[in-house]
Amino acid sequence: MKIYIFSDMEGISGICSSEFVCFDRPLYATGRRYMLNDINACVRGCFKAGADEVLVRDGHSSGLNISWSELDPRVELVQGNSGDTRFPGIEGSDALILLGYHAMAGTAAAVLEHTFDSKSIQNMWLNGEKVGEFAFDAAIAAEHGVPTIMVSGDDKACAEALAWLPSGLTACQVKEGLSTQGAKLLPQEKALALIESKTCEAISKLRTGSIKPKVLQKPFVIRKEMLERLNPGRNGVMLDARTVELSGDNLEKTFFAII
Ligand SMILES: [Zn+2]
Repeated sequence: MKIYIFSDMEGISGICSSEFVCFDRPLYATGRRYMLNDINACVRGCFKAGADEVLVRDGHSSGLNISWSELDPRVELVQGNSGDTRFPGIEGSDALILLGYHAMAGTAAAVLEHTFDSKSIQNMWLNGEKVGEFAFDAAIAAEHGVPTIMVSGDDKACAEALAWLPSGLTACQVKEGLSTQGAKLLPQEKALALIESKTCEAISKLRTGSIKPKVLQKPFVIRKEMLERLNPGRNGVMLDARTVELSGDNLEKTFFAII
């Protein structure tokens, strides 16, 4: 069994503000350590539950956050720029885990809520439904035939993920969002134990054979509303001065064409 772990940073246990996730801030080194801890806990859970292979994708910002030398030695790591591929090496995976996720842009009392680019994107929709990164990633993975079995993050990220995948998904809440820059955190030991045990639980559910990828209807329609006025000539149809829409029969290609 092969498990693919894609890790973002905003929903990592112990992280409550942008001070931890921006490489030029003093707390970034601490944030990186927390991210590594959560990933290693998840990896332990994967192997404990019987995985033969685990691949980790460093998915925050430019993908250069994980300390390779300190990562669990049983796993391979994808780091840096992978071009227009969201999950390099996902082929042949039995399941995807989205670790350290955050709620969509605009969610109240959600730690570091945003949708892909906090500086430029106001909202995004997929096939008519306003969604965040979780739904896009779960849908892109589904296009590769891979179901998403687990999410970790704050209470809002977990609720959003469960709303998209109401049956079968295991949600691992490691903190409670109080604002975009504040959270009530579980004790570290408890958070890491929870990630490990929820990973085991998610893989046990997968083994029952009841979890299938959520495949969306084609054509895929992606809408993006910007914070500022758009320049004409972008990919897609301009619905108004700040909103563009693009559709296509390949979700991942359409996503990279509009994002
Ligand atoms: Zn991120």
